[in-house]
Amino acid sequence: MTASGLTDRGLFLAGKWVHTPETVTVRSPYDGRPLGSAAAARAADVLAAVDAAQTAMATPLPAHERAAVLDRTSAALTARFEEFAQTLCAEAAKPIKSARAEVARAASTFRHAAAETLRLAGEVVPMDASPTGVGHLGFTVRRPVGVVGAISPFNFPLNLTAHKLAPALGAGCAVVLKPASQTPFSALLLAEVMAGAGLPDGMLSVLTGPAATIGDALVDDPRVKALSFTGSSAVGWHLRERAPRKKVLLELGNATPAIVLADADLPDAAERLASNAFSFAGQSCISVQRVYVESAVADEFLSYFLRRVDQLVVGDPASESTDVGPVISSSNRERILRWINTSGGTIAAGGTVTDDGIIRPTVIVEPQRDADVCRREIFGPVCLVSRVADLDDAIAQANDSDYGLQAGVFTTDINRALDAAARLEYGGILVNEAPTFRVDQMPYGGIKESGNTREGPHYTIRELSEEHLVVVNLKANN
Ligand code: NAP
Repeated sequence: MTASGLTDRGLFLAGKWVHTPETVTVRSPYDGRPLGSAAAARAADVLAAVDAAQTAMATPLPAHERAAVLDRTSAALTARFEEFAQTLCAEAAKPIKSARAEVARAASTFRHAAAETLRLAGEVVPMDASPTGVGHLGFTVRRPVGVVGAISPFNFPLNLTAHKLAPALGAGCAVVLKPASQTPFSALLLAEVMAGAGLPDGMLSVLTGPAATIGDALVDDPRVKALSFTGSSAVGWHLRERAPRKKVLLELGNATPAIVLADADLPDAAERLASNAFSFAGQSCISVQRVYVESAVADEFLSYFLRRVDQLVVGDPASESTDVGPVISSSNRERILRWINTSGGTIAAGGTVTDDGIIRPTVIVEPQRDADVCRREIFGPVCLVSRVADLDDAIAQANDSDYGLQAGVFTTDINRALDAAARLEYGGILVNEAPTFRVDQMPYGGIKESGNTREGPHYTIRELSEEHLVVVNLKANN
């Protein structure tokens, strides 16, 4: 099966494929081979996409038709499953096993969004709860917030794009999407699928090209009422500051902690944490980065953990057996190696690079707390293991971070689990599960530097629709 998404067909601008004067060659992050070229959108293309979006929104589809488009998209993702998986594998160098899992999740994200579209409703206001409200009927209706500018990252280029498009379209908003420059093809393929599923022209444009040009044009256009961004904290908060009058939804980074207490099921914790620290070479915003283990069981945990890490297969992402492939670029590889080498800890596994340029799964024991590898999001195949005195010490170290997306705790003591859940400063706490765990209907998102919203169709469809109040004076009762 080939990745037929990798064709040079231009921008998807309001239902049409449009070529631009400039294009950019996209190369495999694994072996550098050219995969295809992507059009470079100009500010004028953004304007045209927003024009078309406004026009399309002027003729709204009823909810059952919007839901049907999302359901048909889900079915098409399933029907063209392998084509999408191969596209992700090529453009992101995502191991094919992980790429297939992502396509399955994207299909489910569209399915959940279709269901939420059918349920989206306002509410009745209890007007007679105030003496002056007696004799009035009050209710709200939900209307789309307006045109949405969506910006997605390279690491889950299909499913995170699905999390932007499906709830927005379900709410009745048109979307102008800018995918990451390294991963344009899956988004363009998705646009093709959505057009085939009956999405009206103008409801979606996918504009590939320079981030600043497209980002600035979306920020500067007052007709774009909401920006939905997933990516790094630096870019996300910068966008937020530049667009004070827009709704800005941010899903950003993390330096994900997991706590392993002495009473935990250690082999199970080691298995879950090892596979989730290194999947897609650690390039997930909730990849396990910092593990805090109670001292009494640290050596035992480490022996299970290192044994599991040693079993991970490193190599060509297209190979069926590969667990860990390359990171997205050589500059990221160099940065990660620099951070490994300045961690101040003991390298217990990895720390080196294969002949084909892949960083081996790396475990660092007792890194310095102020090292980059601890304080910043590593976004690479590196996991830190530190001994802690007790739960209080573990929570203090886990919370000693600018980030707050998800955290995990492993224990068989329900009281300690709930104590940790109450005190960990994170948007999501996972108990006896890796903090990398996510199903797509969850309210997923962070606090602090990690963001300001919760993503998941049920939540996003509400973020991207506004309640409008209707009050009727029931004259007959006056
Ligand atoms: P990134 O560099 O911030 O890029 C993300 C997206 O923003 C890309 O489409 C990028 O375009 C675009 N962009 C860059 N500069 C921009 C600007 N000035 N204006 C508008 N758009 C701009 O992040 P990344 O390296 O692709 O992704 C990794 C980050 O995403 C990590 O921090 C990770 O934790 C985070 N992430 C968070 C979640 C979550 O749900 N919380 C999920 C996945 C990833 P180009 O590709 O063209 O530069």
